[in-house]
Amino acid sequence: MTALDTPPFPAPVLGEPYLLTPGPLTTSYGVKEAMLRDWGSWDGDFRAMTAELRARLLAMAGDTDGTFDCVPLQGSGSYCVEAMLGSFVPKDGKVLVLANGAYGQRAAETLRYLGRDHTLIDKGDFLPPRGAEVAKALAADLAITHVIAIHCETSSGILNPLAEIAEATEAAGRKLLIDSMSAFGALPVNVHDIRFEALVSSANKCIEGVPGFGFVIARKTALDAAKGISHSLCLDLHAQWAYMNKTGQWRYTPPTHTVAAFMEALRLHEAEGGPEGRLTRYTRNRDVMVRGMREAGFETLLVDRWLSPIIVTFFTPADPAFSFDGFYQAMKNKGFIIYPGKLTAVDSFRIGCIGRMDEHVMTRVVVAAKEALAEMGVTDAAPPAAALEERARLAG
Ligand SMILES: *Cc1c(COP(=O)(O)O)cnc(C)c1O
Repeated sequence: MTALDTPPFPAPVLGEPYLLTPGPLTTSYGVKEAMLRDWGSWDGDFRAMTAELRARLLAMAGDTDGTFDCVPLQGSGSYCVEAMLGSFVPKDGKVLVLANGAYGQRAAETLRYLGRDHTLIDKGDFLPPRGAEVAKALAADLAITHVIAIHCETSSGILNPLAEIAEATEAAGRKLLIDSMSAFGALPVNVHDIRFEALVSSANKCIEGVPGFGFVIARKTALDAAKGISHSLCLDLHAQWAYMNKTGQWRYTPPTHTVAAFMEALRLHEAEGGPEGRLTRYTRNRDVMVRGMREAGFETLLVDRWLSPIIVTFFTPADPAFSFDGFYQAMKNKGFIIYPGKLTAVDSFRIGCIGRMDEHVMTRVVVAAKEALAEMGVTDAAPPAAALEERARLAG
């Protein structure tokens, strides 16, 4: 561990802004440094890293008896979601998509591309799909074979109630697929607590690696049954799994430097106390940031109950002196990259809580936001009354 990695997490590299985004995010100096070496993809040293990576991720998911396996796959997170849907949902299957934001919508769009029958429970931007609704939808449509749930819907920052969704899906005898992209590694997902068929996440979210690959944690029975289902050569999880088990190698060129960086990220993750340690830090990040932003007059999109410790969405202030572009630039000048909103109905922006930073950094984020408002001449950061009425109506 270098001095730069010790709390209170000073700027990652001198002059580099913090990324207050849902990934790629701010990584430690050690993670970046791990990429300074070249690896032969067929070499035993690299194969050993791949094996260790798979074993560590399985352990993180609580698989103690080898019921599950971990299959890493080149590409960003969406490639893994597409691989999961294309490999595990048979051509005559049907998927219930639980949507409450952009990533649920993307899962549905992926199924359209794949030509897989699907239906949607769409809760808009504000609300989680509940277990009872899932049970009702499954009872009403016996053709549904799979349910896909978004663990943390990163577009709104809503933390969906995975446990009750998993219970309803299991009770109805269907299979659960989980997009845990922005949650795995911080929010608990133990295979003994949540019954699922497969889950995906990626290198550059809560495990704090750099982008380049994702991974699927799936039941071996599901991986076995996936043979011959995929429409795609490159996104065939069964083929990737079988080849990896046989040779220890990835099919096709792996992102070697990203994998090396990820090994260091996993080491830091463990040193911090695993998912629990990370959740503690992210929760503190969120609490300090949300408290400060509310003091400054900003309003969160969500009521506290559904606020994730991953990313928080704020309403855009109604004050005509406010513009997102002006605010973004002012924040960037102060060393913080924030994130635009991704909601369908109201104007918003987002501030991430994940990445290599702690509450001291978050305190500085709040100071920067207050300064940015003053520089823009914004006297009141409150959202338009209509946005608050909409929130009250829908959350009520
Ligand atoms: C980040 C993310 C993805 C994948 O996004 P990529 O840009 O393809 O890495 C998918 N689902 C959720 C919930 C995410 O947060």
